[in-house]
Amino acid sequence: MKRRDILTGAGALALAGCAGSQEDQAPGAGDGRRFSWRMVTTWPPNFPGVGTGANELARLIERTSGGRIRIRVYAAGELVPAFEVFDAVSRGNAEMGHGAGYYWRGKTEAAQFFTAIPFGLTAVEMNGWLYFGGGLDLYREVYEAFNLVPFPAGNTGVQMGGWFNREINSLSDLRGLRMRIPGLGGEVLQRAGGTPVNLPGGEIFTAMQTRTIDAVEWVGPYNDIAFGLHRVARYYYYPGWQEPGPTLECIIGKRAWDSLPEDLQQIVATCCSAVNDQLTAEYYARNSRSLRQLREEGRIELRQFPDDVLIELKRISKEMVDELAGADPVVARVNQSYRDYLDISSDWMRISEQAMLRARDL
Ligand code: CA
Repeated sequence: MKRRDILTGAGALALAGCAGSQEDQAPGAGDGRRFSWRMVTTWPPNFPGVGTGANELARLIERTSGGRIRIRVYAAGELVPAFEVFDAVSRGNAEMGHGAGYYWRGKTEAAQFFTAIPFGLTAVEMNGWLYFGGGLDLYREVYEAFNLVPFPAGNTGVQMGGWFNREINSLSDLRGLRMRIPGLGGEVLQRAGGTPVNLPGGEIFTAMQTRTIDAVEWVGPYNDIAFGLHRVARYYYYPGWQEPGPTLECIIGKRAWDSLPEDLQQIVATCCSAVNDQLTAEYYARNSRSLRQLREEGRIELRQFPDDVLIELKRISKEMVDELAGADPVVARVNQSYRDYLDISSDWMRISEQAMLRARDL
């Protein structure tokens, strides 16, 4: 990566929390201190994309800082279980973490907006909202209450709707369906009559294989193949209405962050921004290749959710988000910002990406 690219990493300059000009923040030798950090993650060890992206973030920070920050990465369960990453970093038991905000909805419902909202922003729009639409300020404000400094650090792009052992031809086919689907998407499924189950990635394959669950959404072709999900279900549905472009996050404990000299803060922020871009690119490239592989193997059936199912799920999603916003002033503020951005972006996306993709297929 070129040095110029690091210094101009979108949003990273603002993220470093420095009031000075870019010249004032030029990296220097710092004060000579060295830092040895632990990064806990919600991912299985070296899991393609999300897990290797966390490894890459650690490696990049170490290299870019000239070894002044060394980071040891822990997969889910190695230091703390997947769903205790937030608490571990919040309490200072680890300096940093990599995961996804919607896993922490039990701490604050607002966290979900910084990952994905059903029928909401795509990857490119999430970056627009976070970096240039006020999203990042809200993200930091919400996490500050937990002694955490958050950074966008990856995005899987639009996900797949998931793997099913039965066809979904109407809303009634969701009734009684036991499905691994976290966050708001899971709650929407519940209101549609299904039973959502939240399992960390490492437990998904077995749950599906033993029919503990009937359906599962994980990510998309690239990651789903890595888990072997194409061997335990027949129908692969799209689109991933539940996660149109989930942002992955790096969280840093406030005390650990404050202990860094300014130039190292800048380096960490810029590396997060770089990994945010790289990981997104990786998902787009490798999902394409893996989809091709699935088609060539020809063992599964790709299906699009019927429009009336999507319309109903969208209606329920909106109802749920409105309820959450009505119950919590912090969620209300984040939702307002998110909605405003979604409105204005949708108008542009219709005549840009959407129209262009359609034109390309004519
Ligand atoms: Ca997912």
